[in-house]
Amino acid sequence: MMKEVIVIGGGVIGLCSAYYLVKAGHKVTVIDQSSMDGGASFVNAGYLTPSHIIPLAAPGAVKQGIKWMFNASSPFYIKPRLDKSLFEWAWAFNKSCTKENVNKSIPVIKDINLLSARLFSEIKQEEGFNFHLKNNGLLVLCQSEKMLEEEIHIARIAAAEGLEVKEISKSNIPNIEIGAKVEAVGAVHYACDWHSTPHEFMNDLQSWLKAEGVQIFKNEQITTLEASQD
Ligand SMILES: Cc1cc2nc3c(=O)[nH]c(=O)nc-3n(C[C@H](O)[C@H](O)[C@H](O)COP(=O)(O)OP(=O)(O)OC[C@H]3O[C@@H](n4cnc5c(N)ncnc54)[C@H](O)[C@@H]3O)c2cc1C
Repeated sequence: MMKEVIVIGGGVIGLCSAYYLVKAGHKVTVIDQSSMDGGASFVNAGYLTPSHIIPLAAPGAVKQGIKWMFNASSPFYIKPRLDKSLFEWAWAFNKSCTKENVNKSIPVIKDINLLSARLFSEIKQEEGFNFHLKNNGLLVLCQSEKMLEEEIHIARIAAAEGLEVKEISKSNIPNIEIGAKVEAVGAVHYACDWHSTPHEFMNDLQSWLKAEGVQIFKNEQITTLEASQD
């Protein structure tokens, strides 16, 4: 049965949800508080990385998170503040940072990432989108022994999950990145990884949704939601 659906948020998750809802025959409206051209979904690095499958909620994450709280440009920044809900969330997050949860999550994250890369490829082919998408892998160059050790730990987990991963010695790096001058003590090549150009994908998707009759409202913020029995 056809339903009228409102998607709040026009990032990659919102627009992909809208895409599959339209495909399933529903009437969709997207509402976003921004101008939908510069958020995380438009400007991210575009890596589709089945290789990086250790969840954020891992032992040591809270300790690292506290350090990152004092650096606004850290990769996972939470503004330090006295807030009861933040403490409650941090408490629950900390409780799930166990080795057991990490081991349970890894194969699931791997499957989601592989599915995600496959769906990008399917959407591109099916709709004739022009966005850049290549599965030519990811080369991680490490500039210190400590970084290399951490990356090799990640690489061995990915390899144990059956992903195509190679540890590269310093002398072999020029054979992979031909002609490039690199300063690294070693590297890991994740042949299983993909790369896309996010703003191209998001623009292709917006154009497709509009052509399919989806209304997209920009610069409109949803401030409350009311549930009713109807
Ligand atoms: C610098 C950087 C690099 C990254 N690199 C990668 C990468 O290489 N690979 C990768 O997989 N991921 C990467 N990520 C993560 C990735 O960008 C995000 O996981 C992804 O964009 C999240 O998409 P989203 O749709 O959930 O959220 P968003 O893109 O944040 O979209 C949410 C949307 O909801 C809207 N919104 C929020 N509240 C309301 C409201 N009340 N009313 C209306 N609208 C609302 C916002 O305006 C926003 O447009 C990177 C992120 C950053 C910041």
